[in-house]
Amino acid sequence: MKLSTSYIPPHQPVHLSRDLEDIKSIGCTDVLFALQENHFQWLNGSIRFGPKIASQIGLRSSAVIWGFANTSGGGRSSRVMLENPEMWRVDENSKAYGGGYPNPMACYNNPLTVVKYGEYIKLCSDNGIAGILIDEPAVQECFCENCKNKFARLYGGDLVKSKKNVDYLSFQAQTTIDFVSNSAAIIKNINKNIEVSVCVMPPDIENFKEIAKLNNIDSFSTDPYWLMPNSELNIKKAIDVSIYCKKLAIKHNKVFSLYLGCFGIASGLEGKIYTEGKVLINSTMPDILTTWSYRGGIGLSSLSSEECDDPDVAWQNVVKLYKDYSTV
Ligand SMILES: [Zn+2]
Repeated sequence: MKLSTSYIPPHQPVHLSRDLEDIKSIGCTDVLFALQENHFQWLNGSIRFGPKIASQIGLRSSAVIWGFANTSGGGRSSRVMLENPEMWRVDENSKAYGGGYPNPMACYNNPLTVVKYGEYIKLCSDNGIAGILIDEPAVQECFCENCKNKFARLYGGDLVKSKKNVDYLSFQAQTTIDFVSNSAAIIKNINKNIEVSVCVMPPDIENFKEIAKLNNIDSFSTDPYWLMPNSELNIKKAIDVSIYCKKLAIKHNKVFSLYLGCFGIASGLEGKIYTEGKVLINSTMPDILTTWSYRGGIGLSSLSSEECDDPDVAWQNVVKLYKDYSTV
């Protein structure tokens, strides 16, 4: 089993080296760079040096454009959104969601969204990233002209008047699937050798089947974070959804990947990362296990819900778990 961890990188080589050596020392074969847009704009030592140093150390590098255009998985802080308000999701009255600035979100159906995504992917490819994760593509609500036109084309009706009806719900699901498909296609267009991975959250289980079979997806995964506050999962449900994910991955000849939560964990629950994590792994045996996130998310603000109450204790349970499964 390959082992990895998500890692928000610093920009200076000396710190990258120390962290990546540490990640290697706990038995990891891979590292998942979680890159915000700012990592490409101002702090670009992260991408210029990170994959090269990882390679020298013997770690395979993949990357997620974390919170790209304020979509998908967290870390939202988007210059693309500030510069391109025509990409913002809007409500029925054409007003931006999320109060607009500073946290507008890009519409999946806007062609620019995938184009801008591709610009970051190109930089990843140019700097030696071997895999890209499309993380947590959740359904969106948007009534922009792109969405209205697409709905009229597919269902022959008015998007606003159809809100919440059967066609509307189907349209939302199709929009998410198309976004993943288009994102995967642009990654492969840029570099066909990049491994494309997608992680679909357990609450979006209804989209599993359609996303798992997409042509340009090489790895299919889910993130059953059962220890998170307010999680709808317990360990049994986490195992069930993971096994379902694995069956689809096998059916469509994809790598089966699984994410283990080491972020936002409340004090007192850290031991379950090891004990219940072990049950999850033994029940599912993923091809690659990635922990989110490195050292329990220490240093991240409450905006992200990433930092565990006791990050060191939480992380030590991951280290203990990785010792049991590492093959390097
Ligand atoms: Zn839209």
